[in-house]
Amino acid sequence: IYGPARRNSRGFDLNIRSQYQPLMDAMAKTMDKTWQAGPLLAFEVKGDPTNTHEVTCPYDRRRQVGTVQWTTREQAGKALDAAWSAFPRWEATPVAERAAIVRRLGDLMEAHMAELMTLCSREGGKLLTDGIDEVREAVDFCRYYAMKAEELFAEPTRLPGPTGESNDLMMGGKGVFAAISPWNFPVAIFCGQLVAAAVAGNTVLAKPAEQTSLIAHRVIELLYEAGMPRDVVQLLPGDGPTVGSVLTSDPRITGVVFTGGTDTAQIINRALAARDNAPLPTLVAETGGMNAMIVDSTALPEQVVVDAVRSAFQSAGQRCSALRVLYLQEDVADRVIEILKGAMDELQVGDPRDLGTDVGPVIDEDARRGLTAHIDRLKGEGRLVAETRLDPAQTADGTFVAPVAFEIDGIEALEREQFGPVLHIVRYKASEIDRVVDAINGRGYGLTFGVHSRNESFAEEIARKVRVGNVYVNRNIIGAVVGVQPFGGQGLSGTGPKAGGPHYLLRFATEKTVTVNT
Ligand code: GLU
Repeated sequence: IYGPARRNSRGFDLNIRSQYQPLMDAMAKTMDKTWQAGPLLAFEVKGDPTNTHEVTCPYDRRRQVGTVQWTTREQAGKALDAAWSAFPRWEATPVAERAAIVRRLGDLMEAHMAELMTLCSREGGKLLTDGIDEVREAVDFCRYYAMKAEELFAEPTRLPGPTGESNDLMMGGKGVFAAISPWNFPVAIFCGQLVAAAVAGNTVLAKPAEQTSLIAHRVIELLYEAGMPRDVVQLLPGDGPTVGSVLTSDPRITGVVFTGGTDTAQIINRALAARDNAPLPTLVAETGGMNAMIVDSTALPEQVVVDAVRSAFQSAGQRCSALRVLYLQEDVADRVIEILKGAMDELQVGDPRDLGTDVGPVIDEDARRGLTAHIDRLKGEGRLVAETRLDPAQTADGTFVAPVAFEIDGIEALEREQFGPVLHIVRYKASEIDRVVDAINGRGYGLTFGVHSRNESFAEEIARKVRVGNVYVNRNIIGAVVGVQPFGGQGLSGTGPKAGGPHYLLRFATEKTVTVNT
């Protein structure tokens, strides 16, 4: 059941001074640095210095973190040429060598934990604890996929067949992958995507989210230090309409691995399908969710609140896995809501580098604007249940959104996923439970889901009926761990296979059967 012995990366307890202080001292060294990033390509291709963008800090917009020069169309085209010609050589490189590079990247990221955490908070607005989890997850992806690649690719599988014939199943890479990653996990998902594609024998063009190009740039520098040939993985910072569209329209792209919004996944899917004379593409997409939690009358209200607050508001609700809709059975609803209000009063919103902060900023002004419009609309309808107070001294200069909870009639009332610290609560009667599950399934998303109940058969039945990728019983619904809770959804939430799971690399691989008449 457990597979070969494997350990995830080491954690930190920031409440212990001997662990906290060295990390803070190391972070301080790069805290005031101004970073510069741009494309990292196999060959020098003239860039466009006028296409340089300023990066500001989400918790203090007055502060510049660095600048990023975006990739031109010409550079993207040349990068593709290089990736295309590097593929046969890279695919023929023994998997042990490919895996060794990826493992070294894991070790280097672990050694540069503090610097990457600084970038995660300054560019991505992440809390210290989220920064640690982020880097650890990236390290775990490296080690896990390296191990899986060696299991899958090292030797052909000899299959039983008739006498006088040998049959071998061999695994290889597919070609050139575009890896298009989100800002909410700028190290972990960025790294997980490209490492999976590369260790399986593909060459990779990585387009990070515009908001977190500095972090991506630093990770790729470490990847090169780990020994990755520059034509095997290249970095193409820039926007979707320029860089993304070059990548998804070129017939030499064999696959795209994407994490982000469902709408964007659909655009990519259509662009890939519209190419003439191109191989049938592979799309590995991990997209949005409208994640729910069902609480029945046997649940422990205090535990429900701890888990709901964590699921809805950790990382300022900017996780695909975050809780959006909390269904409370009417017998416990008032009690849960009362405790929830108390818990939300206690949340501290502010500078993500302070140990006492629970909720940091949202990523940028666009995000804040979108969330505020939704919040104002529900407030206007008189739906407000609770809202955490913002301290202007802490939050005036950043893009902060106060955690907020509303009561709504059902998941159907939500037009779209709200990617921030907004929790919606729905009361239901015990007799309506089937309708509740149908409504959740009816939205078409299927990422994470929680059930809180001390009635085991109730929890089991709900878990069975709900069509999602990750079900959590009597706990929070975020923070899937590599190799432990393979992560990813179904329907509008993604194509699978699950990141950090045993089948992920298969989607990046071709299979070839060789039959020899002996
Ligand atoms: N894997 C993360 C979690 O379980 C979420 C990833 C995402 O937001 O895309 O919380």
